[in-house]
Amino acid sequence: MRLADRMDHIGTETAFEAAARARALAATGRSIIHLHLGEPDFDTPPNIVEAAARALADGQTHYAPPPGVPIFREAIAADFSRRRGVEVTPDRVVVTPGAKPVMAYLMMALVGPGDEVIVPDPGFPIYESMTRFMGATPVPIPLRPERDFRLDLDELRSLITPRTRLLVFNSPQNPTGAVMTRSDIEGVAAIAMAHDLMVLADEIYSRILYEGEHVSILSVEGMEERTVVLDGLSKTYAMTGWRLGWGILPKPLVPVFERLLINTVSCTATYAQFAGAEALNGPQDAVEVMVRELRARRELIVAGLNALPGVTAPMPHGAFYAFPDVSGTGLTGRTFADRILTEAGVSVLSGTAFGQQGVNSLRVSYANSQQNLRVALARMADFLAAQ
Ligand code: PMP
Repeated sequence: MRLADRMDHIGTETAFEAAARARALAATGRSIIHLHLGEPDFDTPPNIVEAAARALADGQTHYAPPPGVPIFREAIAADFSRRRGVEVTPDRVVVTPGAKPVMAYLMMALVGPGDEVIVPDPGFPIYESMTRFMGATPVPIPLRPERDFRLDLDELRSLITPRTRLLVFNSPQNPTGAVMTRSDIEGVAAIAMAHDLMVLADEIYSRILYEGEHVSILSVEGMEERTVVLDGLSKTYAMTGWRLGWGILPKPLVPVFERLLINTVSCTATYAQFAGAEALNGPQDAVEVMVRELRARRELIVAGLNALPGVTAPMPHGAFYAFPDVSGTGLTGRTFADRILTEAGVSVLSGTAFGQQGVNSLRVSYANSQQNLRVALARMADFLAAQ
């Protein structure tokens, strides 16, 4: 079939392909430990499930206003204002089916051929993919373990050209677990203002943080008009399959996103948005329990990875990923990932799924039980001992 030229430029998210490969192997009867997943292994808290069922029974089965159901937009604005310490009104919130469309819509709205977008490397692959799909050029900013995977402000300045339109960053970060400090964030804000850049702040992991408080770049004076915050319920409330996300936008972008929603999906599932309001307004103890458990798993996986010969795993500060360097084993990230899947039954992602900086690394998701993490570590130790 002949496809449009633009399809030559779109990338993918390797995690979905790795998941299919691991599932296919498991279907042949192999025991596979799944550490490639970007989703919590917890169930959605019951109060949220009940709110969805109630909304369905109440007849919330019709189209919603494209930017979202009012009570959900109000809940998002109130939650954001409380947690980030900056007042946001509901009319700046646009609800999307999962957080991912915020990336696509923002790129469609802002960038085109000739434009440059600064993206983290390693970083979530869709930033680069969507940039290319729009005919623009992604400019990777390296995140290095020596700096705890936080971006270097001088390096950021050196990458800006008259064509730079948008700067994307993500904190807490996928795939490294890095967290930017307040001074990093203020530095990025100063650069964005000096060079008239828009910023996409991917804050999807803001509640999965092991030390300190989350800082949003939107709370920095002067950033309101140039920041888009991407967030959603997928990670915090274990709701990846519900597809509930949102953008917090500068006012002029709201009708633009609305137009893009009308042209693509009309709206986000109406009944699900009522459940989303319950997630934000209801009890938060399930989130605390999940983060406490993820913290224990973080200690376990990082200590276990560092005990493997040739493996160095920095301590992540947020999200649920470790990003160990495996170059001391003599294998690249890609070879290591391929071989431990087929030879040892452990599914992880090669760091290259997130950019060139990941060539010697793996992304290990620890959103799996402590028991499974122990088995995976033992399998990796046996695999390396047999080298
Ligand atoms: N941003 C980052 C950094 C992510 O890791 C993910 C999910 N893997 C998303 C955005 C997308 O979230 P959602 O599933 O809500 O679309």
